[in-house]
Amino acid sequence: MQVLDQEAVDAKKCLSALIQEGKKLSPPQQLQIERLPIKGYEQVLKITEEKSKLTAIIAIHDTTLGPALGGTRIQPYASFNEALEDALRLSKGMTYKSAIAEVGYGGGKSVIIADPKQDKTPEKLLAFGAAVDTLKGSYICAEDVGCTPEDCKIVRRATKYVVGLPHAKSSGDPGPFTAWGVFRGIQSAAKKLFGTDSLEGRTIAIQGLGNVGSNLAEYLFWAGADLIFSDADPIKTQRLAIRYGAKTVPLDQILSVECDILAPCALGGIINDQTLPHFRCKAIAGGANNQLYRDMHALALKERGILYAPDFVINAGGLLNVSAELEEMGYHPSYPRAKVSKIYDCLTAIYEIAEKSSDSTQTAALSLADYRIKYGIGKRLLSPVFHHSAEG
Ligand code: NAD
Repeated sequence: MQVLDQEAVDAKKCLSALIQEGKKLSPPQQLQIERLPIKGYEQVLKITEEKSKLTAIIAIHDTTLGPALGGTRIQPYASFNEALEDALRLSKGMTYKSAIAEVGYGGGKSVIIADPKQDKTPEKLLAFGAAVDTLKGSYICAEDVGCTPEDCKIVRRATKYVVGLPHAKSSGDPGPFTAWGVFRGIQSAAKKLFGTDSLEGRTIAIQGLGNVGSNLAEYLFWAGADLIFSDADPIKTQRLAIRYGAKTVPLDQILSVECDILAPCALGGIINDQTLPHFRCKAIAGGANNQLYRDMHALALKERGILYAPDFVINAGGLLNVSAELEEMGYHPSYPRAKVSKIYDCLTAIYEIAEKSSDSTQTAALSLADYRIKYGIGKRLLSPVFHHSAEG
């Protein structure tokens, strides 16, 4: 988070410097929007804007249950195709995550091809916002990797269809909510494995101590768990290990460490052909997106007797939080609280469905999401309400 915080400050500085200098941020003049025909997706747009050197993609996978909601990833992708692949994969994931969480939104995601440390300019964000605005609310953007709440504030100057802004009418940092959902998911896994959801004396290994992992560590500590940490930042790892009395292991050992539950909270694709034989945990339940390299790896986990909490179910706490700010009565942190806690019950149901159907938990969760989409379960009846203005 250190880096992202720094980026937020930089973007803010940059914007206020432009404003102080009396320079007006002129609206993008040459927004080019090209529709890419991609099977299985409602809309995929390639956006370019010459003046700001913007190249972005907005992918709307499915809006059966409501407008597409999903973050904007800013990354220096090696090629356009790599960015497109990411946008497609992520937007589809959001459809399933939203369907399971019953938030009344569909699946969408956007990517801006740029290095967030060097090429993220207010002009680029404004041009992107103008593109989002052309969709008239069928896609709502938010922060994601490389895109901070401060960046969203700039996007807000061009469109109201953005959530997670850094002010009182917005839902703020999703990390603690995501972490609470993961904590509840870990409790549900414990209940399934041990017949009790008490985490007292259970050994839980966390990979990644960022916004999600560090909050999760706090909740687990107070629940009496024994913790094992690994993070790419050795200073942070040490500081948190001292605070929570945790053991630490090198980066290349966290996935194979012996523990009751492994909580991946850093990278995607960590459950793959190479890592599978080495897991020494009874369950994998963590916040990272796209933990399975392929869906079939969930079946391989099942065959190894490892319980898997599908990531798009267990990490929906942030989505539940951010979507709460679009309710008519406005945002209050207590509104999404009960819904995030229900991730426990949702996962319990998925474990049961998987057991009865002899499927993997991933297949069971995907089937449940498909069922909800097919029958419109959780479909949005009221339009989302945007309570914020460009000023706050
Ligand atoms: P973050 O950037 O705050 O933290 C990521 C942490 O992982 C950092 O501390 C980083 O040093 C560490 N890390 C990077 N590579 C590592 C490695 N090889 N081994 C161990 N640690 C490593 O991100 P976050 O917001 O905490 O999100 C973590 C994961 O959860 C991501 O996959 C994200 O997509 C997912 N997620 C986050 C939210 C949310 O609300 N923030 C919601 C849903 C899903």
